[in-house]
Amino acid sequence: MIPFNKPPVTGKELKYIEQAMNSNKLCGDGFFGLSCQKWFEEKFSANKTLLTPSCTHALELAALLIDIKPGDEVIMPSYTFVSSANPFVLRGAKIVFVDIRPDTMNIDEKLIESAITSKTIAIVPVHYAGVACEMDYIMDVASRHNLVVIEDAAQGVNSYYKGKALGTIGHFGAYSFHETKNYSSGGEGGLLLINDTKYKERAEIVREKGTNRSLFFRGMVDKYSWVDVGSSYLPSEIQAAYLWAQLEHFDEINEKRLEIWDKYHKAFKKLKDSGCIDLPIIPNNCTHNAHMFYLKLGNFEERQKLINHLKKNEILAVFHYIPLHSSDGGKCFSSMAGEDRYTTEHSEKLLRLPLFYNMKDTEVDKVISCVLSFFASSI
Ligand SMILES: *Cc1c(COP(=O)(O)O)cnc(C)c1O
Repeated sequence: MIPFNKPPVTGKELKYIEQAMNSNKLCGDGFFGLSCQKWFEEKFSANKTLLTPSCTHALELAALLIDIKPGDEVIMPSYTFVSSANPFVLRGAKIVFVDIRPDTMNIDEKLIESAITSKTIAIVPVHYAGVACEMDYIMDVASRHNLVVIEDAAQGVNSYYKGKALGTIGHFGAYSFHETKNYSSGGEGGLLLINDTKYKERAEIVREKGTNRSLFFRGMVDKYSWVDVGSSYLPSEIQAAYLWAQLEHFDEINEKRLEIWDKYHKAFKKLKDSGCIDLPIIPNNCTHNAHMFYLKLGNFEERQKLINHLKKNEILAVFHYIPLHSSDGGKCFSSMAGEDRYTTEHSEKLLRLPLFYNMKDTEVDKVISCVLSFFASSI
């Protein structure tokens, strides 16, 4: 069976985990944790980054930092993972969904302004498949209405918008190092990018259980104590050690994924040209990270037939995101502003193909030939 995903492994993960175990410090902010943060700050010219146990936690930390209160509204697309929404729902916010653009599956930036009310606090653009949202437009709307922008860049690590790394453009950005993402910290993990410096000091406090422990370790206070609300948003050194092994192969992982993505794109172009399917579109102002390769089929039934055809050939292809506004949780905590013109329709057509760092050429070739054989009679 060709799986949909395999967690990325570069080779030195075990060695670094062992090194962490021998260092006598396994809790957060050890050698590997601090090294990873510094690495991201330098690589992406990010102001301040904090590793978290997951991207979900990074978004929770951001929600605490902007003091979301019950009744506040947060705008985002409905076509996204539940973790874009839950961190704000946990603080009592109401989620307001806006339709997507069918070309990139990202929030339609032109619809955001009409969803803003006096209760709106934040916008959460999601860079679907590592393809950038129209950030200039979104930042302009946000600044005119005094809103905070939190980029859900879970899928966007090492993608760029007009040369700027995704996650570094909004007031905050959040990365995921879950095993299904481009870079992993051993299964679960995340990073909060704090681009607006006014949140910098408080971010460390909220992340450290509401204490000023980080200042204490830097010798800036004599003893540490409870100073604010907080939770425990530090990953262990084991997670950071795994991530460090991935960062050492950062470009190589990206190149391998792009190679597979390009191979798929080239192979399926004739299907697109003959009108059988649609392919992902990368806008000119975006450099993407090949997080995902998807096809868009004619409709829901055709997608199911292709899934079955691939399964028969021992290939696992998957779809995702029942749009949040039509899920049970979404009905309790959210509403759609404006029309659902593309979200549901396009979510029902989209199918993701296997794409992972350790994927063999023979596996890529097999996926290609099986997809082509499915359409053989149509072209
Ligand atoms: C994966 C993902 C998340 C959640 O990441 P975790 O690290 O698993 O918490 C959030 N948003 C989007 C868009 C994702 O794809």
